[in-house]
Amino acid sequence: MSEAARGKLVVMSGPSGVGKTTVLRRLLAECPLPLRASVSATTRPPRPGEVDGVDYHFLSEEEFHRRRQRGEFLECYEVYGSGWWYGTLKGEVASGLESGQWVVLGIDVHGAFSVVDQYPDAITIFLRPSSLEELERRLRGRGTEDEESIQRRLQQASNEMALADWYRHQVINDDLDRAVREICQILMHMGESRDV
Ligand code: ADP
Ligand code: 5GP
Repeated sequence: MSEAARGKLVVMSGPSGVGKTTVLRRLLAECPLPLRASVSATTRPPRPGEVDGVDYHFLSEEEFHRRRQRGEFLECYEVYGSGWWYGTLKGEVASGLESGQWVVLGIDVHGAFSVVDQYPDAITIFLRPSSLEELERRLRGRGTEDEESIQRRLQQASNEMALADWYRHQVINDDLDRAVREICQILMHMGESRDV
């Protein structure tokens, strides 16, 4: 397959609750590029409404580590020291790129470093909240975490935001419509540029 026909890899990070999932869903629906979300694997239990194979591949701890040993992950981490593992499956990325799609990963900063080591041309975007107070409001408003999990996520948020400058692009998700438009414009621009 020619280089031109290959897709691009997009890595989006940002603290838990900033809106990565929400923004990505809107991008897939609205941005006129052949975007595809990579479905990560996790050992975290599904939240109400989450669907196996759509939101995540929900794996038992045994299955996750079996696949890890078989080398099936591009990267994987125990995010937030929560005991729950998350990882990007090589197959999700390779099949998308080979078919010319733009594969978007919504992953934590450690995962992002690891992916860029392997795909130096990946387009990196850090999604920021307007403030830590607003981030806490969103995490609580989502209503999916217990207090311990909220605290763990908030503690990590400052560490993650300290690494935002490493990303090529930073976008503030204060106004959802604007953030989606801005990211779509960044991607469209990268699609026209040879410098990716
Ligand atoms: P993440 O995937 O980064 O953990 P989510 O996409 O689950 O975050 O969003 C967390 C919460 O914030 C959700 O309840 C979502 O509806 C809300 N949210 C996302 N973006 C915005 C925004 N721009 N303004 C207000 N609320 C938002
Ligand atoms: P959640 O439990 O809220 O779905 O996800 C928590 C965090 O895990 C997300 O904010 C995201 O940064 C991270 N995450 C999700 N999937 C992956 C993955 O495949 N790899 C890594 N390294 N982090 C992930």
